Amino acid sequence: MTIVIKGAGIAGLVTAHELMRRGFAVEVHERADVVGGGASHFAGGMLAPYCEREAATETVLQLGLQGLDWWRRTLPGEIINKGTLILAQPRDMAELSRFAARTRDHQWVDADAIAALEPDLGGRFHKGLFFAGEAHLDPRRAMKRLYENLREGGVLFRFSYNEKTQAHTHDCTIDCTGPAAIETLPGLRGVRGEMLYLHASDIALSRPIRLLHPRHPLYIVPRRHGLFMLGATMIEAADNGPIAVRSLMELLIMACAVHPSFGEARVVETGVGVRPAFADNMPRVIETPDGLAVAGMHRHGFLLAPALAQQVAERLQQQRINGERKSA
Ligand SMILES: Cc1cc2nc3c(=O)[nH]c(=O)nc-3n(C[C@H](O)[C@H](O)[C@H](O)COP(=O)(O)OP(=O)(O)OC[C@H]3O[C@@H](n4cnc5c(N)ncnc54)[C@H](O)[C@@H]3O)c2cc1C
Repeated sequence: MTIVIKGAGIAGLVTAHELMRRGFAVEVHERADVVGGGASHFAGGMLAPYCEREAATETVLQLGLQGLDWWRRTLPGEIINKGTLILAQPRDMAELSRFAARTRDHQWVDADAIAALEPDLGGRFHKGLFFAGEAHLDPRRAMKRLYENLREGGVLFRFSYNEKTQAHTHDCTIDCTGPAAIETLPGLRGVRGEMLYLHASDIALSRPIRLLHPRHPLYIVPRRHGLFMLGATMIEAADNGPIAVRSLMELLIMACAVHPSFGEARVVETGVGVRPAFADNMPRVIETPDGLAVAGMHRHGFLLAPALAQQVAERLQQQRINGERKSA
């Protein structure tokens, strides 16, 4: 039984990895000429199930814990287990209390504890929340590693793939085409997320920092070599056109509120990704005429892709067992 995964974003790569691990013959068809060039390219890479509970359901938290565990087992060298630090300006303390009330597995931290966690933020914030059990990764590095593992495991990749001109026979297709599936899956919509990369050699952060604000919340995710990913807006539109001036200004103003040295940083990249989402913002495995679809990853693609991939693998394993029983 050959399984074709359509789309090599995070949903497709993780699903391919899980199926390969369970002994399925897998082939990946990608419309672009690289892996991970879609929405996944712009992600922060936060694996933050407890923080996400602030705006998501308990199911997201539980599936997220499953995802975090998968990442730690699958790519241990890529996972940075330093937790998440949530901060707010003194005038926005109500935001911090609200965040604490909606989440769990955190501890309140004072100015000394904040300085111990992040020395460069010493003296800048008096109160925060620390989620020690969370982690983050660099999405572009992680997708490259998954791709390499898949190639080494014998998974065939067909790039620049056009299904209209390059039809192949196979047993089952798993649609992991992210926002492209908006055209075919009823109820799927796009949520625009704008982000940017700054280079700031004189600031060091160890973990994702979220600055709460009633109108312009911000997160900063540290990368290697003085790079920081800043995000992200949530705009109801399937529009991946360039970042808006207002969004860019707001993200930069908030970054300077975290640390004024970001004012001297260089903007090295701006980007926009469209998050595919259903009305309840919950991802799903859906039956399609050709097989299955992993759809609606919304703002949790990295966090939740492993749990969805496990659901796909379990369904296919069951089908395989049923097929073997019939032919016996
Ligand atoms: C700014 C921003 C920050 C984010 N931060 C986080 C975060 O910190 N943590 C987290 O968990 N999530 C985060 N997300 C969400 C995450 O990025 C998405 O949920 C995820 O990328 C969706 O992945 P996907 O594989 O479904 O789609 P995509 O990454 O878009 O992949 C779909 C792939 O399918 C290909 N394709 C399309 N049509 C076809 C076709 N017909 N045939 C073959 N291939 C096709 C595309 O070229 C693409 O490569 C963020 C998103 C944004 C925009």
